[in-house]
Amino acid sequence: MNKQINIGIIGTGHLGQYHVKHFLGLPNVNLVGIYDVNPKQTDIIQKTYAVNSFTSMEKLVESCDALSIVTPTETHAQVAKKCIEIGKHVFIEKPITKDIKEAEMLVRLAQENNVLIQVGHIERLNPAILALKPFSVSPKFVEIQRLAPYTIRGTDVPVVLDLMIHDIDILLSIVDSSVSNIRATGVSILTDSVDIAHARLRFENGTVASMVSSRVAQDKVRKIKLFQKDFYATMDLLLGLTEVYQISDEIDPDLSSDTTAPFEYHGRKRIIAYEKPPVIQSDALRDELSNFVDSISGNAKPIVDGKAGRDALEVAIQIQDMIIQDIH
Ligand code: NAD
Repeated sequence: MNKQINIGIIGTGHLGQYHVKHFLGLPNVNLVGIYDVNPKQTDIIQKTYAVNSFTSMEKLVESCDALSIVTPTETHAQVAKKCIEIGKHVFIEKPITKDIKEAEMLVRLAQENNVLIQVGHIERLNPAILALKPFSVSPKFVEIQRLAPYTIRGTDVPVVLDLMIHDIDILLSIVDSSVSNIRATGVSILTDSVDIAHARLRFENGTVASMVSSRVAQDKVRKIKLFQKDFYATMDLLLGLTEVYQISDEIDPDLSSDTTAPFEYHGRKRIIAYEKPPVIQSDALRDELSNFVDSISGNAKPIVDGKAGRDALEVAIQIQDMIIQDIH
């Protein structure tokens, strides 16, 4: 039988309250309590979910095996350091930290103290992305769009660190190569920081990716398109819809797909097979927190570890720096 993991949550604002809800529902978890610098917020969450609250972060950290850190990004390094230094595992909401120096400090400390870091790049567990698992994916071109109407939340950081970093993390997990070249541009529309960003990444293996992120949009859009030899996949991360088109010489009888009429190409008869792989609906936040608990128990590995969180941040910061250079 798996041992109960004692968990604490630091920061119970907009997202932290959902961590409380999910940890309460997970097996093998004892939610020890919550801590938030804002006592009013602690009070609301304590009453809503009937959980213990702590007035000292240190006391909460000491009483737990692992902590979920859901505070503003600029505080992640300082809060996580306190937990890791005394041997506690940490789940850190994305982005891992505000800069690379901090991220590397945390990754090194976690190694020294033999604890796990997991980073909340939740889109890795988006059901539309998971639906692509059965296919052999090695794209030559990737096009990603992430648009959102303006809200005040998240605007403490540029759109690259708030929204685009989700797609950077997905991209780095899909493309098995290192980034060799970045071009980026952006504009400030509603805030003093960059609200719309466009980046073009080239990888060592030749893959090219184009990403647009905006927080000045009428409607939400989250779409990824992958193109590779004889293969095109499109994923709608909001609708939970994945569609795959594959060109082949003949119809695979095992494929439950629609096909076009055969066409001739360089003397070969070819068909385009269309299929909608099953998208298994699930709550991605619950699933990533469950993955964290399973990783602590030794039954899994963090889907996004500290190193992956660091790598996504590094590319995001390069893009952001390039946009700033481009603007000035
Ligand atoms: P929020 O402002 O709603 O909540 C943050 C809470 O942390 C507040 O209640 C605040 O009082 C508390 N706090 C601040 N400093 C603290 C400290 N030092 N110790 C303890 N509590 C502290 O912010 P949010 O929208 O919940 O975002 C929190 C984090 O989650 C950010 O890093 C953000 O980037 C990330 N986030 C991730 C996603 C995602 O898709 N994975 C979505 C939203 C937010």
